[in-house]
Amino acid sequence: MNFDVLGLKQTLVETVSKAGYTAPTPIQESAIPVILTGKDILAAAQTGTGKTAGYILPILQALSEQKTQQGPKQVRALILTPTRELAAQVYESICRYGKQEKLKSTVIFGGVNISPQRRVLAQGVDILVATPGRLLDLHQQKALKLDAVEIFVLDEADRMLDMGFIHAIRKIESMLPKRRQNLMFSATFSDSIRTLAKTICHQPVEIDVSPRNSVVKAISQQVHHVPKDQKAVFLSSYLRNFNEQALVFSRTKHGADKLAKLLNKADIHTVALHGNKSQNQRTKALDDFKNNKAQVMVATDIAARGIDIQQLELVVNFDLPHVPEDYVHRIGRTGRAGASGLAISIVSPDEKKQLNAIEKLLKGAIPRSASQAEIVDGLSDIRLSVQADTAIPKERIKHSHKPKKFAKNRNRRNRVRQSSEMDRIQSSDKQQQTDKVHTLHPKTEKRTAFGSSVRSLFQFS
Ligand code: AMP
Repeated sequence: MNFDVLGLKQTLVETVSKAGYTAPTPIQESAIPVILTGKDILAAAQTGTGKTAGYILPILQALSEQKTQQGPKQVRALILTPTRELAAQVYESICRYGKQEKLKSTVIFGGVNISPQRRVLAQGVDILVATPGRLLDLHQQKALKLDAVEIFVLDEADRMLDMGFIHAIRKIESMLPKRRQNLMFSATFSDSIRTLAKTICHQPVEIDVSPRNSVVKAISQQVHHVPKDQKAVFLSSYLRNFNEQALVFSRTKHGADKLAKLLNKADIHTVALHGNKSQNQRTKALDDFKNNKAQVMVATDIAARGIDIQQLELVVNFDLPHVPEDYVHRIGRTGRAGASGLAISIVSPDEKKQLNAIEKLLKGAIPRSASQAEIVDGLSDIRLSVQADTAIPKERIKHSHKPKKFAKNRNRRNRVRQSSEMDRIQSSDKQQQTDKVHTLHPKTEKRTAFGSSVRSLFQFS
């Protein structure tokens, strides 16, 4: 299928074709025509499926076709995101896809100077991307008006609820005009999401292309049982052998910093991403990771949510999450859009309860790695504990072979990324058709993205 049959105008079709997209992804195929009719939608889609273009393209079209002029401080389309990183990414997409449209857009989030944001808003904008806190601050300061919003997008609504934004969302919603189009995106259709959708949307068209089916299916999972005080050594050894980029999840901000420090001392270039970092530090960490300058990013669940990183080969659960659903969110960061991926969990004996809860949710056991001893060559020689200021002396980390330099592979990785992006998305489309045939059981299948993805986790590739 081509983009032009979705009802998009020529300039937008040209833009996506220049971006290298040859065909719409499943969520784009389903969402774009519905959004163009002006209806509300409730869509199950997570980052990595092409959902951003799925709503940005029709919004650009709707706003550029209706010539309504926004007044000072007014906004025509409001996009709410849970994290600053996602807000910045969505804004980048608007700039990319909207190059040929004469629309004004901006992004606002906390952690950075508010004055430039006030100045941009003073003239009014067509599209505003915002995190809830900063939006409310600016509204309270009378720097913006929400009475002319025509389209309201709630991106990653499930995460918004997890992060406790429900009151902020309700407050923001109460400031919007009653007549507007609502587009709600969530990774899951939980009861709380449906309740929220009832108050925000008007007879929404439900879109569930089960994108996570194909994404998650390609992920191989392993559990490595490792004593708590040897986790960092295990990980550094694993990463040297793996020699590709990895996203490592830590349960706490402090733990993320501690681990990043240890890995850096072991000569593995690592950045940390969490809510205690300044916005500049967060942006730099993310840029370094996205541009392949850093091999590893250690992140907390909230900070990593929604970040679009192409073709991430490895996700590591350094700590298991307390909320079992977060496990599924975490491992969904690899094997994106049809690519294969590996997710490993380094599990210490005290995490038995969390592991049981995850396996209960997944309705099955995650394979235990049989080859730990090979992977962590020399682990038994190393007795280092993970303490805040303990450096790993380089000479004490033994390897069966000289570690390849991470930077050596950078050019190759970049080439592979560029050439395979489209293939992956397209193959996800095809893959999805196959998944529908192979992974759905007629009796047990419920049409929820989450349910189907959980079942498909056991199609270990
Ligand atoms: P998203 O899920 O919106 O974060 O998008 C994930 C990635 O897919 C982004 O890097 C987009 O540039 C890319 N993408 C979006 N739509 C397509 C498409 N139709 N074909 C190929 N790549 C796409």
